[in-house]
Amino acid sequence: MASLTGKSALVTGGSRGIGAAIVQRLAKEGARVAFTYSASSEQANRLVEQIAKDGGEAIGIKADAADQAAVREAVQQAANHFDKIDILVNNAGIIVLGPITDIKEEDFQRILAINVHSVFTATQEAVRHMPDGGRIIHIGSVNSDRMPFAGGSVYALTKGAIFSFTKGLARDLGPRNITVNNIQPGPVDTDANPANGPFAETMLGLMALKRYGKGEEIAGLVTYLAGPEAGYITGAGILIDGGFDA
Ligand code: NDP
Repeated sequence: MASLTGKSALVTGGSRGIGAAIVQRLAKEGARVAFTYSASSEQANRLVEQIAKDGGEAIGIKADAADQAAVREAVQQAANHFDKIDILVNNAGIIVLGPITDIKEEDFQRILAINVHSVFTATQEAVRHMPDGGRIIHIGSVNSDRMPFAGGSVYALTKGAIFSFTKGLARDLGPRNITVNNIQPGPVDTDANPANGPFAETMLGLMALKRYGKGEEIAGLVTYLAGPEAGYITGAGILIDGGFDA
């Protein structure tokens, strides 16, 4: 039997990149998976079809993470569809880069809404539908521990908030045996940070392993944290960063 048979999961931002790899892997492990997306309807539909072809079950829900009412409704829709949410993966996130003097107020509000506020909203709503023993997994970043170049202060702020939230939330939910953990990837090859993009050389120069990570590698760690063997891990930040922080 696959390790997550009988479980249902919600992944935010699951149409592309790391989120799509997580959706695929959780479905492969036997979970029924709902995921949100904001723009990439085609990719979302293709992912749902592919998973169905492979014998799994997934549904895509269009919900902009910047719209808190939409996020709350998406969680309720997933909970109604599956009767419960055992696993919540808060993955949706954007990057805003630039010197602090140049960051526009609207860009700051947008990254806070997507990277921080929607994590609060999705989590608050999901725990109302989460049985004891559930799992909450945030996709944070190594950049909450180490931001080795200029221009990343606001992104680091959002990922630092998520790490702190992880610790407080673990205390809130420990009595229900719900674990809460923060995965902290280093550079992972996606549209947001391509391995052949303009930052790649700088990134590789900072790392022990001279390669970008793959979405599948992050998905493997999510699967472990979501599974029965990881029941004693909570409130943790877990680096998966090719030695970026070493
Ligand atoms: P991508 O930009 O490649 O993919 C982002 C995913 O999130 C897409 O499915 C996108 O769907 C969705 N998304 C983006 N904005 C919204 C929104 N407003 N509402 C709903 N969904 C949204 O990003 P990555 O896969 O690289 O990043 C995923 C997470 O991993 C982020 O939290 C990021 O900060 C974190 N991370 C990434 C690293 C990297 O090097 N790639 C390193 C460390 C952390 P759609 O197209 O439909 O909007």
